[in-house]
Amino acid sequence: MINVTQPFLPEEEEYKQYIEGIWERKWLTNNGPLVNELELRLKKFLGLSHLLFVTNGTIALQFAIRGLELKGEIITTPFSYVATTSSIVWENCNPIFVDIEANSLNIDPLKIEGAITDKTQAILATHVYGNPCDIDAIQRIADNYNLKVIYDAAHCFGTKYKGKSVLEYGDISTISFHATKLFHTIEGGAVVTKDPQLLKKIAFLRNFGHNGPESFQGVGINGKNSEFHAAMGLANLPYANDILEKRKQDHHLYNSWLKKLELQDIFISDDATYNYSYYPILFDSEEDCIKVFQALERSHIFARRYFYPLLSSLNYVNQMAMPIAENISKRILCLPLYYYLSNSEIDMICRIILRTLKY
Ligand SMILES: *Cc1c(COP(=O)(O)O)cnc(C)c1O
Repeated sequence: MINVTQPFLPEEEEYKQYIEGIWERKWLTNNGPLVNELELRLKKFLGLSHLLFVTNGTIALQFAIRGLELKGEIITTPFSYVATTSSIVWENCNPIFVDIEANSLNIDPLKIEGAITDKTQAILATHVYGNPCDIDAIQRIADNYNLKVIYDAAHCFGTKYKGKSVLEYGDISTISFHATKLFHTIEGGAVVTKDPQLLKKIAFLRNFGHNGPESFQGVGINGKNSEFHAAMGLANLPYANDILEKRKQDHHLYNSWLKKLELQDIFISDDATYNYSYYPILFDSEEDCIKVFQALERSHIFARRYFYPLLSSLNYVNQMAMPIAENISKRILCLPLYYYLSNSEIDMICRIILRTLKY
């Protein structure tokens, strides 16, 4: 069986070494030494000045919305994982969807202005598959209309934009370290912002609002992460460059097979150093997409229709027509991509795809 993804694991011994320290200290959570070390090492690796390690990438988004005190309408993309929209609704805001660009699959900045009302407070955009949005255009609109910008950068470990981490952009960027992501801490995520006041505020939100053992700065929740999760991150981090390099090679191998299909390429920002975190393939029709999906499935290879269905069709949002996103989401498939995937497995996957489409 080949799944769309498989979590990376470090050598068991490397994880155990960190765990031994936990047994010695008997300090399991609440901002322990491994959480601190992971935050420092991640900042260094990603080139960030600030970063808060939290329970997962979804609570990171909720912290972003809370931290910026957003109310009313948030402009967002229909083409993302459900957490992008659910976090908006969970925080009692109203998601207003704006269609995507047909080439980058990111939110279309040209359509944002038309969706702004006097209730709009922010733009929450996803860097889809780790490919940066048109950050400059989005920032110009945000500046003109006095809106905050949040980036769901869940897919962006290692992606750079104009030479620095893509997480440096927007008022806040969030990332996921879930087991299925390129770099993981089993469950986990982070909030990134350059604004020290905002960072402090979110640090309070993460820890029940405590500003001392017996005092509270305001309402908070438990968004901390544990020493065990930090240990996995610390054991995985030395492999991050290998993982990034392996994904790049896999992309090249897939490309060399699948170029015969002459399918539409997904446009990667010229300003990006891409992390190759997914391998999406955009078929000419939904029929081809489903045929390939099923042919792979018959060989126990599980690709994923990602993202399908659209977030603008969820039963708890104001549904809106999103013609481009609807069209794309019916035709797109993410192929298996993970560290342990072998070249011969990629060859096999590609042969099945070519055979199914009669090449
Ligand atoms: C994975 C993912 C999330 C959620 O992250 P978790 O750590 O699983 O909570 C949010 N947005 C996108 C785009 C994702 O892919």
